[in-house]
Amino acid sequence: MKQSRAALLAIAIVIPLAMAATAYTGKPASQDNISADKKIRIIASFYPLYDFASHVAGDRAEVSSMIPAGIEPHDWEPTAGDVLKAGSADMLVINGAGFERWAENISARRLVVATDGLQLDGGNEESGHDEGIDPHVWLDPVLAKHEVESIRVALVEIDPINAGYYNDNAARFTAELDLLDKQISGELSDCQKSDFIAFHDAFSRFAQRYGLTQHGIQGISPEGEILPQRIEQVIGLANDLHIDTIYSEELVDSRLAEVIANEIPGGRVLVLSPIEGIDSEEQAKGIGYIDKMQQNLANLKEGLKCTS
Ligand SMILES: [Zn+2]
Repeated sequence: MKQSRAALLAIAIVIPLAMAATAYTGKPASQDNISADKKIRIIASFYPLYDFASHVAGDRAEVSSMIPAGIEPHDWEPTAGDVLKAGSADMLVINGAGFERWAENISARRLVVATDGLQLDGGNEESGHDEGIDPHVWLDPVLAKHEVESIRVALVEIDPINAGYYNDNAARFTAELDLLDKQISGELSDCQKSDFIAFHDAFSRFAQRYGLTQHGIQGISPEGEILPQRIEQVIGLANDLHIDTIYSEELVDSRLAEVIANEIPGGRVLVLSPIEGIDSEEQAKGIGYIDKMQQNLANLKEGLKCTS
């Protein structure tokens, strides 16, 4: 007992000394801090890229997200401070495919466009998107592997000494994405329905991969006004196709989906996340892209009446 009290006392003295040393010299007080200072600073544009970069970079980098947790990224614009911060990072990782138009105004030390090299078609002809390209690449786990690979290549180039580490991390995460892909195709293989009503047109690529048909209440972005005629159309569609599940998203007001669900027999609202941002509670729990995709799968299976 005496010993442990003495040990506690020693710690109580040592810690303030270490803190004082750091504050006085401005230099790190321990070896750990010295190596921490050498970490690569990566800024990812929004949540999925943050998650992918974190998996590949591991503890070799400090990864942060440009768009804060809980903020819808479609119409987001950076402040002058954000632009400066992104410009000072060692690497800025964006999705590309027209998703982060603001990135054109940032002179990053190294810009990684994770979708570069992918042959992206229109994805959804009705999207109304300027270039007709559906940017929601990350929602297809097979295409997500390409985004992971882009990040791996960039990290190996700027930090070749640790290439083996990045290669191993990327291989491990890619294997998880392969498993996720198999899980989704397996669990969606025996469903009564193949049509689903999403809040916005985020799931065209996902739907294409797994043989489903998406009907979005909104267009390519979840923001903007929805006309009453569109709400009537969606109610008609749900009734025609005997769909009882209307999907909402965690970053939008779910009342619209509820209004529609109330107009269809046995209607209900479930979340189908476009994984465009997670709330701070989820972030604190360490919930990742793969967890979110599995939650989506569980909710899709409900709506599509899957048996497996
Ligand atoms: Zn979206």
